[in-house]
Amino acid sequence: MAPKTWTQETFTLNTGAKIPAIGLGTWQSKPNEVREAVKAALLKGYRHIDTALAYGNEHEVGQGIRDSGVPREEIWITTKLDNPWHKRVEEGIESSLKSLGVDYVDLYLMHWPSSTDPEDLKKHYPDWDFLKTWAELQKLPASGRVKNIGVSNFGIKNLEKLFADPSFKITPAVNQIELHPNNPSPKLLQYCKEKGIHATAYSCLGSTDSPLYKNDELKKIAESKGKTVQQVLLMWGLQRGTSVIPKSVTASRIEANYELDGWELTDEEVKAIDAFPERFKVCGDAWLPIKVFFGDDE
Ligand code: NDP
Repeated sequence: MAPKTWTQETFTLNTGAKIPAIGLGTWQSKPNEVREAVKAALLKGYRHIDTALAYGNEHEVGQGIRDSGVPREEIWITTKLDNPWHKRVEEGIESSLKSLGVDYVDLYLMHWPSSTDPEDLKKHYPDWDFLKTWAELQKLPASGRVKNIGVSNFGIKNLEKLFADPSFKITPAVNQIELHPNNPSPKLLQYCKEKGIHATAYSCLGSTDSPLYKNDELKKIAESKGKTVQQVLLMWGLQRGTSVIPKSVTASRIEANYELDGWELTDEEVKAIDAFPERFKVCGDAWLPIKVFFGDDE
């Protein structure tokens, strides 16, 4: 079989919607940079932008989208409900739509399974949890302002809790989780697959100052294929069936990260990367008022 044309590929969600396989991440993209980055990405051909209320950049992301001239309906926009907004889902989505300057988002994610008290970010609400937040999120698709709902940073334990809740009706369309060769989470990926939840890989390059860029095995594979280490990391994510959302504010990198058509990793190369023994996680839960991760994949 010929290698895939990944820039044209989508993954079909449990709602029937099709999420473009490659998107642009925008976490830590500074003001004035992210507007240009979004525009550059869309002009290169990207049709999927990932943002969040917590990133404080939805307004600029919206400007970048408009600057590009690409019609709204051709673009997949994902944004996320911030932790201190769990009791204010309606306000949260309205705020995001207003900042982005759009009538709807394609995917609205609960950013973390942590209902944080906005008065004191070190406190979890005593009378609210992510189950109640999900019950609120389930109401949104009917309004047309949110096409799909999903979660982020959910391990198996919290997904099980969600499925067991009496108010649970809609299976998340997506679970956006940290996935790269040093945090591959095979059990969680398999679990999501069985439940019909698509996984999007965040920090798919290993995030800021990624240690993966110095990995000799990756360098060897990249060199042998005439590709960059970053392109190999993205291809590994795509070939595992996850969408990838590499972040960059550098035009040349935004372009290179999208050059993923017409080549692929061999089974041996995928297996070699799967077998990396090192482990690191960019996003832990120490900064949250509650624990949300309970060991590998859980
Ligand atoms: P990534 O794994 O995408 O790595 C981004 C870093 O890699 C930046 O420092 C970027 O630099 C650099 N980089 C990108 N492309 C290249 C390249 N071709 N060559 C060399 N360096 C490169 O990190 P993120 O943690 O940002 O994850 C991606 C996205 O996932 C986020 O932006 C966000 O949208 C989402 N995310 C979601 C989370 C969640 O809780 N749901 C948590 C974390 C991320 P530069 O920009 O300077 O070019």
